[in-house]
Amino acid sequence: MQYKKEILVGAGVLVVLTACVAGYFLVTQKNIEEVPIVPIAEEAVLSEVVGTSVQGRDITAYHYGTGDTNLLFVGGIHGGYEWNSVLLAYRFMDYLEANPDAIPDSLRITIVPSANPDGIYKVIQKEGRFGAIDVPNTDQSIGRFNANGVDLNRNFACKWKSTSMWRGKTVSAGTGAFSEPEAVAIRTVVEDTNPIAVVFWHSQSNAVYASECENGILPATRTLMTTYASAAGYPAVDTFDAYEITGDAEGWLASIGIPAITVELKTHESIEWERNLRALQALFAQYK
Ligand SMILES: [Zn+2]
Repeated sequence: MQYKKEILVGAGVLVVLTACVAGYFLVTQKNIEEVPIVPIAEEAVLSEVVGTSVQGRDITAYHYGTGDTNLLFVGGIHGGYEWNSVLLAYRFMDYLEANPDAIPDSLRITIVPSANPDGIYKVIQKEGRFGAIDVPNTDQSIGRFNANGVDLNRNFACKWKSTSMWRGKTVSAGTGAFSEPEAVAIRTVVEDTNPIAVVFWHSQSNAVYASECENGILPATRTLMTTYASAAGYPAVDTFDAYEITGDAEGWLASIGIPAITVELKTHESIEWERNLRALQALFAQYK
């Protein structure tokens, strides 16, 4: 009997030990399963809210690639009136998500697709869809300004004045440089990423413009303009001289030594993807 008892005790110990080992592996396995698995392609894409519009809409920056040299692209600063500049930015984002290998290792691409979301909303509200094709030409300013009625591309700290010009009309430039939250959002993303070059998409002048503030066009700005314009086949223009512009974002960037250009699409409806893709690839080659 004593012998049988020892076998039973031994078996009991074995059962307890087995349960402990099994439990250990189950717990360990659970821990392994709890570690999130992030696909490599997604790991390189981050988005962050860099500001909030007057009406409370997020202004978001999207980052692609992991290099140390930043290129910044901004669409939609003139809102719904130039909705195609937002659409081009989203097309570029789709391209980078589908082609992560297109980004050189040394580069990080940051895109703010919609810098004036309240202006975009005005067009959606009016049209009931994303598109301003039916907006009559007599009312092309719909959504150009932010919800305070300020032309955001007159609200930056370069020769700022309280009023400025747009096609011969007087427009509000805010109560001071960077009085508007949308302009502050762009300043934030510039300060956070310290870009080597900045491209603003607009429409519809069919040209690439250099920028300057008080000290003429930076040599690096001229290089940026020439690279983009020649790859895309847009005319390169040193100075926008149809009327005086004050407080523009590109001029502010020039004042702090960052090259910036304005790319004006040919119409208010097209994104001219193939030619802009050639320009983007040229910029990647230029700055990698
Ligand atoms: Zn514009």
